Amino acid sequence: MSRLPEPYKIKMIEPIRLISREERKQKLIEAGYNPFLLKSEDVYIDLLTDSGTGAMSDRQWSGLMLGDESYAGSRSFYYLKETVQQLTDYQYVIPTHQGRGSEQVLFSQLIKQGQAVLGNMHFDTTKAHIELNGGTPVNLVISQAYDTSNQHPFKGNFDTNKLESYIQQHGEENIAFINVTITCNSAGGQPVSMENIKAVSKIANKYHIPVIFDAARFAENAYFIKMREDGYKDKDIRTIVREMFAYGDGLTMSGKKDGLVNIGGLIVIKEDEKLFQQCTSTIVPLEGFPTYGGLTGRDMQALAVGLNEVVEIDYLHHRISQVQLLGKLLVNYDIPIQEPIGGHAVFVDAKKLLPHIEPSEFPAHALACELYIESGIRGVEIGSLLFGRDNKSGKDGLSKLELLRLTIPRRVYTDNHIQYVAESLGKLARKRSQITGVNFTYEPTILRHFTARFKPI
Ligand SMILES: *Cc1c(COP(=O)(O)O)cnc(C)c1O
Repeated sequence: MSRLPEPYKIKMIEPIRLISREERKQKLIEAGYNPFLLKSEDVYIDLLTDSGTGAMSDRQWSGLMLGDESYAGSRSFYYLKETVQQLTDYQYVIPTHQGRGSEQVLFSQLIKQGQAVLGNMHFDTTKAHIELNGGTPVNLVISQAYDTSNQHPFKGNFDTNKLESYIQQHGEENIAFINVTITCNSAGGQPVSMENIKAVSKIANKYHIPVIFDAARFAENAYFIKMREDGYKDKDIRTIVREMFAYGDGLTMSGKKDGLVNIGGLIVIKEDEKLFQQCTSTIVPLEGFPTYGGLTGRDMQALAVGLNEVVEIDYLHHRISQVQLLGKLLVNYDIPIQEPIGGHAVFVDAKKLLPHIEPSEFPAHALACELYIESGIRGVEIGSLLFGRDNKSGKDGLSKLELLRLTIPRRVYTDNHIQYVAESLGKLARKRSQITGVNFTYEPTILRHFTARFKPI
């Protein structure tokens, strides 16, 4: 199918401004060479994250006016609940302020001290919440996920042999649950196939282990199944979404991605009433009363509308093809990227682009800094900096991948912006030998990438 332009037109604009190269250098020094610490007004095109950065539709904005701000039993809650029930076929719906709020509440009920949580590849807050609850996060993604040139269509898949042998070796009683992240963010927004989800669920049932989805990008995952997996080309997205979730027992979701809102999250439980009740009592002191969970009525209203818009096929066609466009332009500039291109971001392989920088000197982070100075674009490292140190040895530089993530917010930038991003990286790649690694000047102990400070070597 030829590529359609944006399936929306612009009704309101937000000006952005490119400050001078000298100013950009100065701003980055002030930010301790950590683009996370830049002020957004000093950023021209912000590809830090697709989380909570999307543009809402006119229907969502008008939904804000319909929000019911009752403390308990809000009409907006029931609207959200029905929307989510229809989408997932799960029974129990609890709103939260965002995905990590869902993790905090649900994981405290599911994990006993010392148990492992088996995932394809856990997201960073997910890993942190598993550890905070005394659990051990284990990543069991297929080995192809670590090879950025391998063209496997579902690089977010579990290695089901590894999954089953891990359970047999450690005993099912030592596994809290299996966490299926769709799409697999930390592996590059790579999808998980229906066949793989089915196989994981079969193993889980055999050993009586619950399956929980980390469903932040459920619609993008369903789109990849439709486009790439045999037997799904003629199925609509909603049907595929329901089938995926049928293989699980519950989900946590950040509404800030495929919910198409700026804040919000969900815990959804298929049928375990006891677990639902435990969550509803746990959530009160953490997030709020279970019919608002840290959200306003209008937030819940906008999330419900967003969840209906994100499964529209025209939206998904454009969304995914815009991400592919950036990837293809970069390939034309001979920039090594992770392939196939994922759902929400393009990942530049900094290990290949900057082979002269050691992993412990964070090549992808160095590239993010240089890209900002070059063009005012903000991207983020997904590599050894994010991965952290080994708990026991304290060793650094352990990630198998060193990636610069260029994440595309939903419905925010046009193809012209995408073109500028590709050209800027192309320019930078020609000067790659001049780029040096970075050292810490301050290193926090947990989730260090958010607040660490650096100096170039
Ligand atoms: C964003 C994200 C989360 C956490 O959600 P927040 O809304 O940012 O708290 C969890 N898992 C995945 C896969 C995510 O992408």
